[in-house]
Amino acid sequence: MKKEVKKLTGEKYDPTWDLDVIFPGGSDSETFQKFIQEIETDMMFLSNKVNKFDPVNDPILLEDELVKLVKLMDPLMKRMREASAFISCLSAQNVNDKKASLLLTKRSELQAKMDGIQTIWQQKLNEIDENRWSALIKHPHLKEISFYLNERRLIAENSLPSSEEILLNDLAVDGYHAWNHMYQTIVGKMIIPFKTDGKKTHLSVGQATNLLSHSNRKIRQNAFRTLQQEWEKNSDLIGHTLNHLAGFRLQVYKHRQWNHILKEPLMINRMKKATLDAMWTAITNKKQVFVTYFEKKASLLGVKKLSFYDLAAPIAETNQTFTFTEGAEFIMKHFRNFSPQMADFAKQAFEKRWIEAEDRPGKRPGGFCTSFPESKQTRIFMTYSGSMSNVATLAHELGHAFHQHVMNDLPAMNQRYAMNVAETASTLAEMIVADAAVENANTKKEKLFLLEDKLQRTIAFFMNIHARFLFEKRFYEERMQGFVPISRLNELMLETQKEAYCHALEEYDPTFWASKLHFHITGTPFYNFPYTFGYLFSLGIYAESKEKGDDFEMSYIQLLRDTGRMNVEDLALKHLQVDLTQPVFWEKAIDLCVQDLEQFLAISE
Ligand SMILES: [Zn+2]
Repeated sequence: MKKEVKKLTGEKYDPTWDLDVIFPGGSDSETFQKFIQEIETDMMFLSNKVNKFDPVNDPILLEDELVKLVKLMDPLMKRMREASAFISCLSAQNVNDKKASLLLTKRSELQAKMDGIQTIWQQKLNEIDENRWSALIKHPHLKEISFYLNERRLIAENSLPSSEEILLNDLAVDGYHAWNHMYQTIVGKMIIPFKTDGKKTHLSVGQATNLLSHSNRKIRQNAFRTLQQEWEKNSDLIGHTLNHLAGFRLQVYKHRQWNHILKEPLMINRMKKATLDAMWTAITNKKQVFVTYFEKKASLLGVKKLSFYDLAAPIAETNQTFTFTEGAEFIMKHFRNFSPQMADFAKQAFEKRWIEAEDRPGKRPGGFCTSFPESKQTRIFMTYSGSMSNVATLAHELGHAFHQHVMNDLPAMNQRYAMNVAETASTLAEMIVADAAVENANTKKEKLFLLEDKLQRTIAFFMNIHARFLFEKRFYEERMQGFVPISRLNELMLETQKEAYCHALEEYDPTFWASKLHFHITGTPFYNFPYTFGYLFSLGIYAESKEKGDDFEMSYIQLLRDTGRMNVEDLALKHLQVDLTQPVFWEKAIDLCVQDLEQFLAISE
């Protein structure tokens, strides 16, 4: 199947991207070097301005000074993103590009400087008294970005004085973040001994994990057991890194007088605790019906009860393939039924070569979408080998790109959206294509395969991610009392998995806390519930679009445009007229997944 796709001559759309229109010359680009130098110069200038900014003792000039600062900072934020996107593209397209790796270091440096400037800036904004502030943000230049500015003040209000925050950040490099690096080092060194057909081989963690979706159960089981053993061996080290990472985080919270472990993740995601609770309540109340999916899948696989290592197993083989151009045309056709603007946008992305999809060695694995807000362009990165799942990934990334596209004319300060809404447009785009694929399937077997693929995702959001959330929450609560022993970590993981999977599996994965990178990320705490939020939020919009029909496109675009300047409750109320703190919206979204389940059960009869 790959042979046919690899021969890309004669394709209508070129599957390699054009970066030269942005900065010519790749990682050697002189234009780009100059661009970086100018950012550095302007950052120095901004830094001086921010340091001199004196909102308390200079009340007369305050308004003018603030407007001036915003006018300096906003374009600089756009240029920083532009540079950052270019560096991401360079390092992804060729992992051996040494100059690109150097640029990655440069980027971290610049980002740290910018963060420092913003820390000082937001502390100063927070010094302005409430009355003065409410008058200030009515200024025509500030009104538009008032959500962002208010958020800066809120963050400053919840932080320590800036000198202490700066000290904290400096200590975190070799403290907090170092634990994450340590974790990655331990995992990177792990070698998984594996036996197939009597031959001994050695696999990386990633390679062994891939075997968990193998069609042969013996291989899956073998990979699972071997992985358990290896994680068990390393759990002492990993348990220490996790405990210390968590300890650092909790110390910071204590000093900032944050009394709840969900305070930071909720603030980052601009959402209320009531919304999070409503979402999990709706899921908990409705997820039991998916146990019938486990039972059906078990019987299709010919086993009595499903185990953790059967979740990703394929129930059928499919040989349906699409050339890149066929994939592109499939996407555009089905986007058009939903939103002509989305289809036109996708067409432009294919024609102007905004997508790097070629299947070749030397590329980084995975996929992403990154934006160039200065050039008002986006780039998508992935490896396309012709499967339906590749087409869905392509649609997913195009959804991200469209999200950015509708925000192009907004100030940089209004383009920053959080992780929970970041997946709205992408999930929706993917859903459109996945549903079209099910509808267009040629055989019953193919249809079943595609529906099962959708259900696997649903289970991941409702159960796997739920277990991660419950585990992280309980672990942090216990960590507040002291070091949590390794045996207790295993116990907690098992307990939360059983609960999240409705006690429906034969065997669970007690060392999952060690193997899942997300628990060890320091940049974003609770790297779990925003996934489920994004999935259900976009499903809710999808349900709405089916009800509204043609009128929906404009209101959908308006919603996307507001994702960077509203909290999620206001966003949903304004554009969907729903209250996210109540389970109703979430239940409606879950019902769409139940429909998939019903269809799956009916076909597999
Ligand atoms: Zn995404």
